[in-house]
Amino acid sequence: MLTLKQAMALHANEIESLKEQMIHDIKEQQELNAYIEIPELNENDKGKIPILIKDNICVKDSKLTCASKILHGYVSPYSATAVAKLQDSNMCAFGRANMDEFGMGSTTEKSCYGRTKNSNDTSRVPGGSSGGSAAAVAANIAIASLGSDTGGSIRQPASYCGVVGLKPTYGRVSRYGLVAYSSSLEQIGPITQNVEDASILLDIISGVCNKDSTSANLLPTKTFDKLNPKRLLKIAILEDFVKEAHQVVQNAYYDTIKTLENMGHSIIKAQMLDTAHHISAYYIIAMAEASANLARFDGVRYGNRIGGQNLQDLYFNTRAQFGDEVQKRILLGSFVLSSGYYDAYYLKAQKVRELIRQQYASIFSECDVILLPVAPNVAPTFNATKSSLEMYLSDIYTIGVNLAGLPAISLPVVKKPLPIGMQFIGNMFDEQTILDAAFALEQNLGN
Ligand code: GLN
Repeated sequence: MLTLKQAMALHANEIESLKEQMIHDIKEQQELNAYIEIPELNENDKGKIPILIKDNICVKDSKLTCASKILHGYVSPYSATAVAKLQDSNMCAFGRANMDEFGMGSTTEKSCYGRTKNSNDTSRVPGGSSGGSAAAVAANIAIASLGSDTGGSIRQPASYCGVVGLKPTYGRVSRYGLVAYSSSLEQIGPITQNVEDASILLDIISGVCNKDSTSANLLPTKTFDKLNPKRLLKIAILEDFVKEAHQVVQNAYYDTIKTLENMGHSIIKAQMLDTAHHISAYYIIAMAEASANLARFDGVRYGNRIGGQNLQDLYFNTRAQFGDEVQKRILLGSFVLSSGYYDAYYLKAQKVRELIRQQYASIFSECDVILLPVAPNVAPTFNATKSSLEMYLSDIYTIGVNLAGLPAISLPVVKKPLPIGMQFIGNMFDEQTILDAAFALEQNLGN
């Protein structure tokens, strides 16, 4: 598959032939279930470079479901700012990527359309929740895609599938038109074949947006023109934290450190305390926000209405369309926000969040970037993740970054037999440094 950078050099008619070829290939690989439906050619998008969009990002006049039955029949009345910005840069939305329902999951097994398969080994999950976006890029049926990352949903599927995924700093990319799961944690970001393409897409979709009050008052980034693989950096490693990973992931971590040292970077040892609390803090906050954000899907304001004898029936019937995982999170989220428990859970989680932010800030006072694995394991086989708790625990390396609002990029450091990704975590709004670090490592590894 052509990279995004290469596709940008094509003429309009060549782009149209590329799209036709892609439709053919997507049909051939339908078994992967990365695309929710086969994309169609559209007159208005003629000559524009096709970008696959996760099914929780609005594209005007297109269907959008967040892989949930409750949104069946919904058509977006407007485009997300990120999508509008693609369109202004001679790109267009092309296809809807499968995902875990409302972004809640780490395997893309929790979609109403059925699971997506990992093209590296079709008995394994592609990761999640942006599993369709990552699987399609890995399988050469998308040039690049947009996903969303609330607690790792861009980086972790990128790691499991062997592609690049970038989670921008909170506020860097407008969330206008991204269906809210946990508003204080999530960002839209690119999933691409390489670091250059991630940088190109970040520069396009970033920048202040007056439709999102949490977007930072900053111009779009210009990272691509400044990409510099020659910078020598101070890279912090967190050895204690990595002891929790499977042996193959630990080995990949130490091999990567060696490579980075040989490249001339200086490695410093740092510590992240109380990492056991990351998961609890994240899931309390994410579920609390999810329960508030999903309250609007009641069959009256939003959602595919299923009526009944009275109003209560209507609410019950309509909201019963949510899958098990989503229902569980709405219940737990309502619980931690309830008056008797608010201080014990929600408030405490917010305090832990602040401590995590401070710990990252103190590590960044000594280094330029932090190196961590993306996931403690390689992609598991289907149904291997037995309980929700087990699934939550596998988010250990990604969620702290969202709690602190930091940027991070996932890059494959092992491709075979199964991909393993490492992430560079950067300081607030310093996407340039993590892109530089990843670009240099990518070149060195010859990916
Ligand atoms: N796996 C995490 C969750 O289920 C993260 C998902 C995401 O980033 N959207 O919440």
